[in-house]
Amino acid sequence: MKIGLLSRNANLYSTNRLKEAAEERGHDVRVIDYLRCVMDITSHKPAIRYGGQELSPLDAVIPRIGATHTFYGTAVVRQFEMMNVFPTNESQGISRSRDKLRSLQLLSRNGIGLPVTGIAHSTKDIDGLIELVGGAPLIVKLIEGTQGVGVVLAETKKAAESVIAAFRQLDANILVQEFIKEAKGADIRAFVIGGRVVASMRRQGAPGEFRSNLHQGGHAEKIKLTPEERSTAVRAAKTMGLNVCGVDLLRSNHGPVVMEVNSSPGLEGIEDTTGIDVAGKVIEFIEKNARPGNTRTSARG
Ligand code: ADP
Repeated sequence: MKIGLLSRNANLYSTNRLKEAAEERGHDVRVIDYLRCVMDITSHKPAIRYGGQELSPLDAVIPRIGATHTFYGTAVVRQFEMMNVFPTNESQGISRSRDKLRSLQLLSRNGIGLPVTGIAHSTKDIDGLIELVGGAPLIVKLIEGTQGVGVVLAETKKAAESVIAAFRQLDANILVQEFIKEAKGADIRAFVIGGRVVASMRRQGAPGEFRSNLHQGGHAEKIKLTPEERSTAVRAAKTMGLNVCGVDLLRSNHGPVVMEVNSSPGLEGIEDTTGIDVAGKVIEFIEKNARPGNTRTSARG
């Protein structure tokens, strides 16, 4: 098959591994920088120009759209869908998962466990917001944050009030969340492909750190999920309409709760930790599902 890897950087671990896994299976892979794609929207025959020429037909694309380029990146994925090219993740699922508020609303509507969460923009009702999540200690997040930057643990009501008041000044969307203390600074990454968890790991923050992000000095180990955790991860992926994703969970007293669903999950951490050929499984998924015109994800929220 002819597979397009929509990635800005051919040297990234994940891009490389997907390319390698596809080539090992005899496929023809091309890394395509989606920001350099020119879309022909107006013609009867939707097309993409790349490097001064019309892109030759592909059987499937693997979108690896960076968070900073979601808008243009998802438009390119949509253009491929219009050209009847199978995407591992549909543009709509990627857009949904990038919108934290929309994601949480969709997940809660589908009865998926979440930390108790309140969302505000410029409220003066700080006390009400704090009450809503059951008081301190609590977590305050800036919606735009990534890799743990912009996530604050406020241990007392006073601290919570001042953090929320400070964030308010930034004219930002603020998310206030119950602190899942019992998670003890660890979270779970479940890698879902085609409605199944194919690999999972537990990430533990550095001592004294409530954030488990590897970028914040955490470490990871392979774990076996409980049936409830598995089904939560699979249902979260389905709700978002994502075939390939990383679901981040916390182990809470009231069962597994979803923090985030990532539509371009990194492969390095999960493959290193579990020894599982996750890239190969993405390619197998394409082999089973890519048909011309099959551009709609069966998973749907
Ligand atoms: P980012 O998307 O910036 O990585 P997250 O929302 O994933 O931010 O939060 C970073 C880390 O903080 C998580 O991996 C988790 O370990 C910890 N964390 C986030 N929310 C909570 C919470 N409600 N309770 C306990 N720990 C949390």
